Amino acid sequence: MSNKILAVNAGSSSIKFKLYLMPEEELLISGEAENIGQSTSQIAYTINKKRQSESLPLTDHASAIENIIQILENSGIIKEKAEITGVGHRISHGGNYYTQAVQVDADVEAKIDELKVLSPLHNPNGLAGIKAFEKFLPQALEVVSFDTSFHQTLPEKAFVYALPYEYYEKYHIRKYGFHGQSHYYVSQEARRLFGLENTRKIISCHLGNGSSITAIRDGHSINTSMGFTPLAGVVMGTRSGDIDPEILPYLEETLNLDSHQIRDILNTQSGLYGISGISNDVRQIQTAATQGNQRAQLALTIFTHSIQQYIGAYATDLNGLDTLIFTAGIGEHSATVREMICRQLGYLGVQIDPDKNAHDELVISRPDSPVKVAVIPTNEELVIARDVMKFINN
Ligand code: AMP
Repeated sequence: MSNKILAVNAGSSSIKFKLYLMPEEELLISGEAENIGQSTSQIAYTINKKRQSESLPLTDHASAIENIIQILENSGIIKEKAEITGVGHRISHGGNYYTQAVQVDADVEAKIDELKVLSPLHNPNGLAGIKAFEKFLPQALEVVSFDTSFHQTLPEKAFVYALPYEYYEKYHIRKYGFHGQSHYYVSQEARRLFGLENTRKIISCHLGNGSSITAIRDGHSINTSMGFTPLAGVVMGTRSGDIDPEILPYLEETLNLDSHQIRDILNTQSGLYGISGISNDVRQIQTAATQGNQRAQLALTIFTHSIQQYIGAYATDLNGLDTLIFTAGIGEHSATVREMICRQLGYLGVQIDPDKNAHDELVISRPDSPVKVAVIPTNEELVIARDVMKFINN
C-alpha cells in the first residue's frame, strides 16, 4: 500500500517540506515557508516543476505548518489530512542518544529539548515543528532523523577532543558531526552506481551554505569535519570553520566582546562573507573574482584550500581513496570550486575532465583517473521519508 509521507526541515525562520508517495519515492510537492514571523512571510512550492508562491501572514512555526497543510489540500495533492500517514523531521542534534531515526514520544521530545544547549539555533525549531504536527496531523506517525546519527560510528580517536577527559565524560563535549543524512545519501548512491569495490574508501564533500567533509569506509562514517557544533571544519558561507581557539579570549579581552557577540561573529560574520566582504553566496563571489576583486579571489582560495586540507587528512584516515563526491549547492553547481579543489589532488590520483566538470556531469573524472570523482545531488528529505517508512512497515 502507498503512503504519503511528509519530510520536514524546520529552521529558525523557514520550514522546508517535501511530500513523497512511498515506497514509490515519487515527489508530489516540495516547498518552503519563508520569513516566518516577519511581514514578508510566504510559502513557495513546486508541483510538476511549476513554481508558485503565496504571501501569507505566518506568525510562528505552528501557523506556517497549518498553512502548508492547507496548501496541500487546496492544490489537490491530498483530499484530506488523514492521507498523510507519516511525518519525518530533520533534527540537528541527537547527541550520544541516537544512532538512527526514532519514533517521536515524550522521552524523545524531552531529549531534543535537553540537547538544545548543543544546538541552540536548530533543535528548538525542530521541536516546535514536531509539536505543531502533533496538533494539526494527530493521526500521522512522527519520526525524527538526526544530522548526527550517521557519525555515531566514528572511532574514539576521531571524536574525543584533547581536553581534560572529564569534559567528555561529564559534559559530553566531543565531535558529533552533522549533515549526516546528506553524506549517507550520496555515499549510498555512489555505492549503488559504481559498485561496492569502487567505493570502499569515499570522501564526500557537502558544500552548501554550511559545508562539511566526511570520510566513509565501507558505508560507515569514520571521520567528519564538523565537530561539537556545525561551526567547526572547513570555511563556510558565514561560519569561520576551524580557527585557533585562543582567538576567542583574545577578542573578548581586546575588543571587550561577550560570548554572544563572539558567537555571532563566528557564525554569521565570518567565512566566505567575512573574507570577501561581498556575500556568502559563491555565485556572487565568483563573479567578483572574475572581475578582478582580490578579496573575492582570496575568499575562494582560502575556502578551497581548507577543503583540500581535509581531503588530504581523510585520505590518510582511509589509507587511500576510491571515490570523491561533491554535493549540495556549491558542490553540485560550481565547476570553478570543484576545479580549484581538484587541481591540488593529483598526488592522490584525482584527475578530472574539464569538459565533464563544466557540465556538472555525474562522473567528472577522466576514464583513466585512479580516483572516481562524482557530482551527486543530495536528497536529505528522501532519507527522512525512507526513515519514516521503516517505522510504518514495522
Ligand atoms: P545549499 O546550502 O546546499 O542550499 O547551498 C547554497 C549555496 O550554494 C549558495 O549560497 C551558493 O553559494 C551556492 N550555489 C548555488 N547555486 C550555485 C551555482 N550555480 N554556482 C555556484 N554556487 C552556487
